[in-house]
Amino acid sequence: MKRLWTLGLLMGVSCGKSSSDPAPAPPPPAAPEPGREDGFEKLGPPKAGEWLAHFKEDGQTFEQYVSGCANRKSLERPVFYIQPLGEAGARYAKTLDLMRDYAEAFFNVKAKVCDPIPMFENGYVPQRQQYNSTMIIGQLTERAPKDALVYIGITEHDLFSRGLNFVFGEGNLRDRTGVYSLRRYATPDPVHFNRRALKLMAHEVGHILSIHHCIYYKCVMQGANSLDEDDRHPMHLCPIDLRKLEWNTGFDRAERYRRLRDLYAAAGMSAEADWVAGRLPAR
Ligand SMILES: [Zn+2]
Ligand SMILES: [Zn+2]
Repeated sequence: MKRLWTLGLLMGVSCGKSSSDPAPAPPPPAAPEPGREDGFEKLGPPKAGEWLAHFKEDGQTFEQYVSGCANRKSLERPVFYIQPLGEAGARYAKTLDLMRDYAEAFFNVKAKVCDPIPMFENGYVPQRQQYNSTMIIGQLTERAPKDALVYIGITEHDLFSRGLNFVFGEGNLRDRTGVYSLRRYATPDPVHFNRRALKLMAHEVGHILSIHHCIYYKCVMQGANSLDEDDRHPMHLCPIDLRKLEWNTGFDRAERYRRLRDLYAAAGMSAEADWVAGRLPAR
């Protein structure tokens, strides 16, 4: 069964999991490892308009993740590919390089930005002046390198999916592919634009690696009902989701945080650099 997440609904950002997915009754979440809660903030009840006020979600414990994970880093599939589509390669060149470096630090994978390929023009719908993300994913899947853990297309064009006015992107867990548009993230602040692009990638690729929305902590895997709400979410993974990624791709936590600290600092994201530095063991 195809499992599908999209980002973007009528009112703005939304990340919907296919309603055809079974929803087993979840056990209570495992307690985070002792001493790992420092700096993490648990979620209170959702405010009006927020994602969890609209969508009931069951969460996903570490144990549920391990038993249901469909895409894990392996010797056969170790590489994270970023595929610029059309003019996105030139327009977002620096952001794409940052996304590659961030993918390596965040996910502990070898990441590559592929040479740009033409946009799939047969996905264009003139009446909407948008591209059909589902069609693009289908064509990306045919090109996906054999050793791809993840293969994501990046476009400057607006995307839509059936029944939705627009989507920021769409991912396909089974085929390990996704397509994402940076068009609606435009802002005069280049640091904030990059922050949005990195958060989109971390969240959506988290889904491609089988991680569901977070309902436990402030976390990059929280669902968002608007760009505003998305902007309020942190860039980091909570202790539960961090443990899932650690199980999936295997990393040393301190080494990962050191790499992220240096990357955030170089990208001008000082609050994020400080937060990560605060998670490092005292010397
Ligand atoms: Zn999502
Ligand atoms: Zn989380």
